[in-house]
Amino acid sequence: MRTRSTLRRYSALTAAALAAALVLTACGDDDGGDATTEPTADAADFPEGSTMAELAEAGSITVGTKFDQPLFGLVGPDGTPVGFDVEIAKIIAGELGISEDNIEWVETVSANRESFIQDGRVDIVVATYTINDERKELVDFAGPYFEAGQTIMVLEENSDINGPDDLAGRRVCSVEGSTPAENIRTNYPEAELFPTGAYSDCLEPLRNGQVDAVTTDNVILSGFVDQNPGEFKLVGEPFTQEPYGIGLMHGDTEFRNWINDVLEASYDDGRWEEAWAETAGAVLDTPEPPAVDRY
Ligand code: GLU
Repeated sequence: MRTRSTLRRYSALTAAALAAALVLTACGDDDGGDATTEPTADAADFPEGSTMAELAEAGSITVGTKFDQPLFGLVGPDGTPVGFDVEIAKIIAGELGISEDNIEWVETVSANRESFIQDGRVDIVVATYTINDERKELVDFAGPYFEAGQTIMVLEENSDINGPDDLAGRRVCSVEGSTPAENIRTNYPEAELFPTGAYSDCLEPLRNGQVDAVTTDNVILSGFVDQNPGEFKLVGEPFTQEPYGIGLMHGDTEFRNWINDVLEASYDDGRWEEAWAETAGAVLDTPEPPAVDRY
């Protein structure tokens, strides 16, 4: 069970004051930048004892996200991450009455997402996190809020690798604890997997020829291509389905259902699309939001 300190409860007062200030300053502010983040609730709006009530009362939420993935979660010089996942987390926090200043961002990498949720080190994970049956044994997922697919990135001048079957006998970099690495191990055993801790750790090995390719979700690789003009390219079509979910404590169905409601509302009122447009939409086409899966 989560225990939250008195200090955190006091911060709810600060959050409430900040919420009031934001509502006031929002009048006449039409730059669109804060639409996803205005706090809109307090603890009394939620069932007593629910995770929503606890978080709303605390006035803060701890979110696990990626810190090294352009477009979805990339930490800036001020230490705050930006990207589509970050905006999705802000929408959820906002519905709890928590302003973005009261979100504590924690870096999660592919391999530690389940344990960070199980240990209570984070309240939710929004981190290019594929929903699958194995992970559902350990954590719960709201969503999906996006559908990615595994693909391959090579050096711009490479013409030998055009799809996963060309990886046989080649060194391919991916991240330990990720579904793409697992897929290579299981379904492409002739490829030589070069596992790292985070995707940004694959870039230098690709540049210096230590590996021949990098594989993970198309949208993650597209971010690296965009950030390094002329260096890398994506090859072939996506060859898996990677539905991105919001990870939370196993068994907290009330919280999962509530996040699913929030996601659906954000689809309907344009906040999801705005979050996309402000982040990944700078590089990628706008997709249709996927139907949430209330499993
Ligand atoms: N979506 C895949 C996964 O959750 C790959 C991306 C990642 O490692 O974050 O494993």
